[in-house]
Amino acid sequence: MTVITRFAPSPTGNLHVGNVRTALHNWMWAKKHGGKFLLRIDDTDLERSKEAYVDGIRADLRWLGLDWDGEERQSARFDLYERRFEELKAVGRVYACYETPEELDLRRKVLLGRGLPPVYERKDADAPVPEGRAPHWRFKLDHEAMIEWTDLVRGPQHFDPKLMSDPVIRRADGSWLYMLPSAIDDIDMGITHVVRGEDHVTNTATQLQMFAALGATPPHFAHEALLTGTEGKLSKRLGSLGMDAFKERGIEPMAIIALLARLGTSEPVEPVTTASPLVATIDFGHFGRAPARFDEEELAQLNAKILHHTDFATVADRLPDGMDAVAWDAIRPNISTLADVADWWSVVSGEVNADIPAEDRDYLAEAVKIAASLAWDADPWHALTDALKASSGRKGKALFLPLRQALTGHDHGPDMKALLPLIGQARAIARLEKAAAN
Ligand code: GLU
Repeated sequence: MTVITRFAPSPTGNLHVGNVRTALHNWMWAKKHGGKFLLRIDDTDLERSKEAYVDGIRADLRWLGLDWDGEERQSARFDLYERRFEELKAVGRVYACYETPEELDLRRKVLLGRGLPPVYERKDADAPVPEGRAPHWRFKLDHEAMIEWTDLVRGPQHFDPKLMSDPVIRRADGSWLYMLPSAIDDIDMGITHVVRGEDHVTNTATQLQMFAALGATPPHFAHEALLTGTEGKLSKRLGSLGMDAFKERGIEPMAIIALLARLGTSEPVEPVTTASPLVATIDFGHFGRAPARFDEEELAQLNAKILHHTDFATVADRLPDGMDAVAWDAIRPNISTLADVADWWSVVSGEVNADIPAEDRDYLAEAVKIAASLAWDADPWHALTDALKASSGRKGKALFLPLRQALTGHDHGPDMKALLPLIGQARAIARLEKAAAN
């Protein structure tokens, strides 16, 4: 069996963290099994779907490295839905309804008021058809067939169809609601695993009866617990945080992948630089049932850690001109985002201004002389500081800090041993001279 998964966003907005996590897990599952990952654009709602969002979804998935093996659009598949709808109608699994939203709402309130579940009440087949009203359509649940499946995350699931409303699947204007087209597509595209948020669990119960009514074996289901933000509920903030916001903050796609792959699972979040170790270890049995907390601070820290062992080749085309692998290795331990590189690179190659206390000036004048006399080979920093230690009697902070300040303009920063060869002898002497004369 070839594993086939799909990510099925509705193009009515930008992807947010929750959608991306679903896409990622579907992608990982397909990759792990050498299968296929499909992108299905759920654009049955022609009014709310926008082409710009479709483009945005594709761009975000590409940025994240989530390549897909095929793309389908529901708006191009209405003929198929129509055919299968007619089949279900012919066998009495789809029926016409005429209630207005107001009538349905009133009936719900009455039922709730009596302490009864607000389940839709079917009308007699020979009930009179209200004049001048076009019907909308419901799928008829089989009340005798208990709904059961073993969810890959949630374990055994049971639903009693008698306690569920027959879902509306098509509006009076002929447009489709999500439920039936999705089941038809999952069958037609040979989807083997549906991975989605647990807000879809009751949809799954309904769709399982659709699969049966359409004569198909259902896919496996994995419903993952939802994400929450640090402030509790996910929706408001994370629901509006698109990938552009992360990009702007210097978050690397790999950090998002590394966090979302493992968040809410029993596996630790690790600063990996490729997705392969994540793909190799995905297991829905390791997914927790409790909501997972998405923490932007954790993401920022993970981002930094990942950059600290990202190799030069991966980022070379995004580094300042002239920076080579040696410079990258020297600077990367000190960055949180790739944008920080420019600052440290200008410490190597640009203008440096240091504010040096008066009592350190003679010391730095001495450093100028020693720097000028050094061979400046493999490790000029040790040569310079060893010589200064001997000549000045200084040690520790008093020995190192004025040098760092004069050479970099900062109190902290990358290891001087790695930085000084990059700064070079001529520039180092000039900076020490300038600081001594300060
Ligand atoms: N378009 C649906 C959604 O975004 C797809 C759900 C599913 O995966 O079936 O919620």
